[in-house]
Amino acid sequence: MRDLPSKLQGQLSIRRAERARLIETGLVQQGISDPAVLAAINQVPREFFVDPEFKDKAYHNRALPIASGQTISQPYIVALMAEALQLTPHFRLLEIGTGSGYAAAVYAQLVDQVFTIERHDFLVNLSRSRLEELQIENVSVRCGDGSFGWPEAAPFDAISIAAATEDIPKQLLNQLTIGGKLVAPIGDQQSNQSLICFKRTEGGFEKKDLGSVRFVPLISDADEDLPSD
Ligand code: SAM
Repeated sequence: MRDLPSKLQGQLSIRRAERARLIETGLVQQGISDPAVLAAINQVPREFFVDPEFKDKAYHNRALPIASGQTISQPYIVALMAEALQLTPHFRLLEIGTGSGYAAAVYAQLVDQVFTIERHDFLVNLSRSRLEELQIENVSVRCGDGSFGWPEAAPFDAISIAAATEDIPKQLLNQLTIGGKLVAPIGDQQSNQSLICFKRTEGGFEKKDLGSVRFVPLISDADEDLPSD
């Protein structure tokens, strides 16, 4: 776990009880057990990443609307994705779909370097300013189509796709290290989505289904592929 910047430390004294309740009932009781992931959720003030009218709901265990017609992910899902990726501090992680910047801030507690891409310029600027304000310095945010990945920063030990796709963009699969993991909601834009964790091996990909989820769609122009076993 990384040392907390002073700004973040100060912020965490606020709404501590709500965060603790969310962690106990929303994460631990739902099966999240990785102590580093639980600590990371406990180190990020979610109220910073929600829009002003939803501040009172910041510690409800649910997705909430954000600007540009998008959503901030449910804390349980952020924790589930982080746990599935089996993050260790020296990792470089790529996230597609920065949204509010919340998941990137959580990942930033767990790994050395986070690279995150968002297609809405407004959300890029908003998430950058929130991360700066909290003095979270190990996150780079870029505006663009994340389906093409971040070739100059590749390869990545972990990739998190925070928007639903029927197939994984090939460029992203190619930017994963051997042994690296990619987690993504696979399925259509409505309700038939499963959160799948792919592990890249020498010979292909191993797959694990983590259950049903509901994400906004990945808007992509890239070539796609669904890795077979
Ligand atoms: N992880 C975010 C958080 O914690 O707030 C939530 C992400 S939200 C569920 C999905 C995001 O993916 C949206 O902000 C959407 O604009 C973005 N998105 C969709 N397609 C994209 C693409 N091709 N490249 C980059 N971002 C994309």
